[in-house]
Amino acid sequence: MPQLPKHITDSAFQECMVELEAIVSKEWVMTGQSDLQSYRDDYGIFWGHSELEPKPSAAVAPASTDEVQAVVRILNKYQLPCWTISTGKNLGYGGAAPLKNGMITIDLKRMNRIIEVNEKHAYAIVEPGVSYFDLFNYIRDKGYKLWMSCPSPGWGSIIGNTSEHGVGYTPYGDHYGNQCGLEVVLPDGDLLRTGMGAMPDTKTWGTFKYGFGPHIDGMFTQSNLGIVTRMGIWLMPEPPTFMTGWAMMDGIDDFATMIEATRDLRQQDIITNMATVFPGMMDATYRPESGEPLRELIAGRGSPMDLIKILKEHNLGFWTNRMAFYGLSNAVKEKYEYMMDHYLAHNPKTRFKFDTYSAPYDFRKMDAGAKLQAGVPNLGEWTVMGWTEDSDAHAFFSPIIPFTGEAAQEHVDVFNEIFTRHGRGPYIGSIALFNTTRTCMITIPLPVRKGDHEFNRVSQDLFLDLVQASTERGWGDYRAPTFAMDTIMDTYSFNNHALRRFHERIKDTLDPNGIFSPGKNGIWPERYRDTRVII
Ligand code: ADP
Repeated sequence: MPQLPKHITDSAFQECMVELEAIVSKEWVMTGQSDLQSYRDDYGIFWGHSELEPKPSAAVAPASTDEVQAVVRILNKYQLPCWTISTGKNLGYGGAAPLKNGMITIDLKRMNRIIEVNEKHAYAIVEPGVSYFDLFNYIRDKGYKLWMSCPSPGWGSIIGNTSEHGVGYTPYGDHYGNQCGLEVVLPDGDLLRTGMGAMPDTKTWGTFKYGFGPHIDGMFTQSNLGIVTRMGIWLMPEPPTFMTGWAMMDGIDDFATMIEATRDLRQQDIITNMATVFPGMMDATYRPESGEPLRELIAGRGSPMDLIKILKEHNLGFWTNRMAFYGLSNAVKEKYEYMMDHYLAHNPKTRFKFDTYSAPYDFRKMDAGAKLQAGVPNLGEWTVMGWTEDSDAHAFFSPIIPFTGEAAQEHVDVFNEIFTRHGRGPYIGSIALFNTTRTCMITIPLPVRKGDHEFNRVSQDLFLDLVQASTERGWGDYRAPTFAMDTIMDTYSFNNHALRRFHERIKDTLDPNGIFSPGKNGIWPERYRDTRVII
């Protein structure tokens, strides 16, 4: 018998399973050990830990919105908590696993219909099981002149990524910012459409976000108030010209210069896509030796000059800003030239390497980074994550810091001390993402070794120290792995946790039995509130 939530008896659980089978068929109610393997987080810090690893007691896979509603009503009857996934990839943030042992996974992979792709108005409406690969292939098959934005890797679902505020690399890289219209099953099984979708014969669900009255779509992202069964997402009309490349600086300390130099360009819409600053050794073109010289450096061998030399031989900088320009060819050229002047003013030794493509596009000719900036999904071959330590996976800490060189440098100094204290130094900076014109998000992959609890414990301690140092400086995490959700929500504590108290008041009203993803993003229904764990 799987581990069940405390108040659920074995017989009630069995009865519930029988009722669920009547809705989705026996095949799609999974309770066996082997069936449930795929609902563990293979990349989680607690994988294989007898007490701490969260595993579901069952998984149920409905095939339609009607079935989701029926499933939800049954879960209410038995007061059984669930955890919803779309495709369950969620790399570095918890994967397919629930927050706590015993929750029932609602797996929406069978709901994989592309409801509409509208070329004229450049949007798509999709179900949760639709992956970025699915939508990309559909658009190409139809010959639509539309580009998507996708994360790397693009194996997950559009709804899963967007609802977690995930990012892509095109001008539409702020995925939630480009979401328009939701269909949501509420905790009592009721069905809601937001925005213009609330009007039965709407003609503009995919084009106007706000509808009438309070705009509530955000209540269903990073949230446990609903199960999203449809989402509208804006697509980018194919640009006539696409220019993509690298601005490179060779100094180890140039991270802050890069960030300072990028801010104005991003704010002025010279760079319109989600440009990304990262160490040259993470670039896929450098994959064969992935990170060896840096590891040597960490081990106290090798010299920084060797690494810089090797990177130069690969035509890479120590720090790289991978960016792109889109639009009419003259406008693209003008932006490119303006960008070069701007970087050279900050660092006269900045080097540039760019390629230009025009419609009709042959994506096969592009390198992995260019493809991503053109919204072509890949399996993560753009960057190499394992450059700091030998590891199997990562847990991400991603604070939002002010978009200044000064803040960037401060974060390097403070985090370097913490990394070094935990025996994981040096920390020289990490991946900086600019998914909106004013955002500087530093994404730090903390290494995870499968089943190595001691090693992962250090990563967890390191994570917590980074959170504390960030909170003291007013830098907040934008998204958290499940193990840290309470901890991160606890840092958003203005006025005695007014935000969390607000969320929990709504939670108790809409979900009195506390069945939808209890504890997600630190929001607990009353029944389980005493299980909140601030680590
Ligand atoms: P992906 O496979 O795209 O990376 P997941 O399916 O793993 O994303 O979803 C990531 C997280 O987003 C889940 O853990 C869950 O908390 C939330 N989520 C995913 N799909 C839905 C949905 N349809 N409705 C509500 N929340 C969802």
